[in-house]
Amino acid sequence: MPRDRLRELQLDRLRRQLSYNHAGSPFLRAKFEAAGARPEDIRGFEDFARLPLTTKEEHRQAQAESIERHGNPYALLACAPREKIVRINATSGTTGTPTLYALTEHDVGVVNEMHARKYWRAGIRPGHVMLQALSLSMFTGGLPLSQGIQHMGACVVPVGVEGGTGRVLEFARLTRADAIIATPSFGLYLLEECPKRTGRPARDLGLRWFFCAGEPGGGDPGTRRILADGFGAKVFDHTGGGHAFHGISCDTAPEEVRGMHFVSEDHCLLEMVDPQSKSPVAMRDGAVGEMVWTFLDWEGGPFMRYAVGDVAQLWTTPCPCGMPGPRFKIVGRADDMLIVKGVNVFPRAIGDAIAHFFPRVTGAFRILLDRPGPLVKPPLRIRLEAGADASEGDMTGLEREMLEYFRLHLRFTPKLLWVEPGSLPRETMKSRTVQIEDGGS
Ligand SMILES: [Zn+2]
Repeated sequence: MPRDRLRELQLDRLRRQLSYNHAGSPFLRAKFEAAGARPEDIRGFEDFARLPLTTKEEHRQAQAESIERHGNPYALLACAPREKIVRINATSGTTGTPTLYALTEHDVGVVNEMHARKYWRAGIRPGHVMLQALSLSMFTGGLPLSQGIQHMGACVVPVGVEGGTGRVLEFARLTRADAIIATPSFGLYLLEECPKRTGRPARDLGLRWFFCAGEPGGGDPGTRRILADGFGAKVFDHTGGGHAFHGISCDTAPEEVRGMHFVSEDHCLLEMVDPQSKSPVAMRDGAVGEMVWTFLDWEGGPFMRYAVGDVAQLWTTPCPCGMPGPRFKIVGRADDMLIVKGVNVFPRAIGDAIAHFFPRVTGAFRILLDRPGPLVKPPLRIRLEAGADASEGDMTGLEREMLEYFRLHLRFTPKLLWVEPGSLPRETMKSRTVQIEDGGS
């Protein structure tokens, strides 16, 4: 669809959605009241940007109030009547009360269709077998993702990561899976474990696609290279659980600006704000900001100017694959951001920089902080593993190269603390990369 036609469609849907939100949800109605606006006052995107943001904290409060006053978690948030809610999803968040999202049958259909769009773009067709090795619990990637795969006619094996590494490897072999969906850190772990447990390299599993999800590592060129080489597979980064924001990378954009194509622009309006001040960030090529989502065709609990906490970098230059529209890469969580001498630093960007030096490093690392961020007393300390065959003599040169790389690409110089390969704990679920520890180690 041409861009101007798409913007028209978005505005059309937005105005319809806003009237629906105002009528259906006391929580969303209060947002209009705070801005002194009624839905019919919003004629364009500029008017819309005057409505206050929604934060996850507010969502949690409204959820708690709903339970207490109305006996269900979405009474104040959802627009659709209770009998139309057919699914409750939760975020994968590891801290605090889970945030719950209500979907109707219509919303489930939207999610299914967005999953189908992504996998079809990557080359998946009916007949392909996809191993679903993410968490299968309330995490929005669990059931919704499996359903989306079925919806497009491919075959899903919902093995899940909970059953353990051995089970994932066994099912890859038994089902002759063509593709795996997993977190990149679990992928790296499989590369190490597969030879130990099966006596053969991960390449022999016969997987032709590795779909990264659940954490930002799939956007790091270094991590992607390790996975591609290790599995002998095409590596795609993708995002989108049980909601309306979906994206998937392609395999033709230049490595440094690859990002994910935003494939659900007809269902979600994207804005960006500064992660700290929450003031608007212009959607220019290369811009970095916290994503703000508004769902455009949603019945259950629609997001409206919802600051989701994920910080993304945006590219607007045309992609060689021919797909129009913006591409984005998730660079970290707003609340993971560290500030070193005025420079914004995300743990994932550090991981990316380190992975750039694979195989002279293993890629495993920990960021050591004296106290919780975002302000860091310089230098930022990073504990990292040398590669398996690095010698004492190589290390001085390697360290000099790495510090120069950090200075050039991340605009700060860390203090590197080397440890033996394999000495940092490996995580099979979501990676923990930041650790609070007393200084001087
Ligand atoms: Zn592309």
